[in-house]
Amino acid sequence: MTRITRRAFTAMTSASIGALVTMRAYGKARPNVVVIGGGPGGATAARYLATDGGGAIDVTLIEPQRRFTTCFFSNHYVGGFRSLASITHGYGGLRRAGVKVIHERAAAVDRARRQIALANGRRIAYDRLIVAPGIDMRWDSVPGYSEAASATMPHAWKAGAQTELLVRKLNALDDGSLVVMIAPPNPYRCPPGPYERASMFAHVLKSKGHKRSRIVIVDGKPSFSKQGLFVEGWARHYPGMIEWLDPQAHGGVVEVVPSTNEVRTARATHRAALVNVIPAQRAGSIAYDAALVDESGFCPIHPDSMRSKIDANVFVIGDACIAGDMPKSAFSANSQAKVAALAVRADLVAARMLPASYMNTCWSVIAAGDCVKVGGTYAPAEGKIKAIATFVSQTGEADQLRATNLQEANDWYRGIVRDTFG
Ligand SMILES: Cc1cc2nc3c(=O)[nH]c(=O)nc-3n(C[C@H](O)[C@H](O)[C@H](O)COP(=O)(O)OP(=O)(O)OC[C@H]3O[C@@H](n4cnc5c(N)ncnc54)[C@H](O)[C@@H]3O)c2cc1C
Repeated sequence: MTRITRRAFTAMTSASIGALVTMRAYGKARPNVVVIGGGPGGATAARYLATDGGGAIDVTLIEPQRRFTTCFFSNHYVGGFRSLASITHGYGGLRRAGVKVIHERAAAVDRARRQIALANGRRIAYDRLIVAPGIDMRWDSVPGYSEAASATMPHAWKAGAQTELLVRKLNALDDGSLVVMIAPPNPYRCPPGPYERASMFAHVLKSKGHKRSRIVIVDGKPSFSKQGLFVEGWARHYPGMIEWLDPQAHGGVVEVVPSTNEVRTARATHRAALVNVIPAQRAGSIAYDAALVDESGFCPIHPDSMRSKIDANVFVIGDACIAGDMPKSAFSANSQAKVAALAVRADLVAARMLPASYMNTCWSVIAAGDCVKVGGTYAPAEGKIKAIATFVSQTGEADQLRATNLQEANDWYRGIVRDTFG
């Protein structure tokens, strides 16, 4: 069949995608799909393309880390419920599934030539590209904070060394310590995550017998995910230990001072023993550099396929994309990856594209045996990924139900890790 010219591809708009779907593999034996980022988004997409593609597609995953520590369940590690090893996974399963895994950083995307430049200088061509780099921090969103300052005031919003640092600092606290968390503005990865983390801080301090330590959350938002459930749980398990300050209460963050561990707001200066700054976020830098983002700092996609609205040869999944009503979560990323994998196969090897549907559940541990959840099902509607049905735990639920939620969460973790990494 006729080869599609580069110019035709770059000029192609989403309106012409239907026509593209009927063209098959440009006369080549096996089309190439390159995936950037081996988190729950990228690794799932790569594995599904390799396994469901039946060897008809060459799949290459580019991921600098040899082992991936999941942000999801990193709060369980903070709380002492899990080891770091239990949330760290390798890429052997993807290799066994037929994915070519390259441990390098993608340095640039040449969308006109459909090539990736790796940090080591090598270039890799693609027919379709899946971009799943997660988030990067907006370091300047908190005055006084920086990447260098995160060595003193860890964010731990990317799991691994930062999470270990946070846990070391937490476990070194004496009774009477002040912990200050700066919670991020929307949109950010894992909406209930900061509040689950504050719960885990309190769990650790309470377990160590602290009577006078306090945790202050300085929030830029007037409300937060599962607020009623967390507030109820904090009063029940950690009375008087956690204080949440909304923008009216703190008047705005003036600056953080890493050298003195101070958080200065318009109303007070908090001199803390541990400061956890979670800055504002945007799509991972590679998506930025490839000009796949809009003014929000995240990547617009077509909700029926996860295809980029900016480039028809590119799909963006996970935290880097604008997923409408779906929160930025590992469950969401994994769900979006399957839709993208199907759409890529429909483009390249005549697979049938099914109507897109998505799922998410986020479980949060408040205390040992007390776990709450929020979630929903989603589908394309009104030009976005729209919530079709949602559910959330209720205040006042029986202990047994909360314990069952925790069991469910642990089962989910086992399942998603297997689904993602093989
Ligand atoms: C404390 C915390 C708790 C959480 N709890 C939950 C939970 O209980 N449930 C849930 O569903 N979600 C949870 N999340 C959210 C979840 O971890 C993220 O939403 C999820 O990891 C997003 O997946 P992703 O694949 O988009 O990005 P990531 O997981 O960030 O993976 C992106 C990958 O891309 C790689 N990468 C980046 N740039 C490049 C490049 N230039 N070249 C090559 N590779 C690159 C990175 O190394 C990384 O491995 C939590 C998050 C946090 C911080």
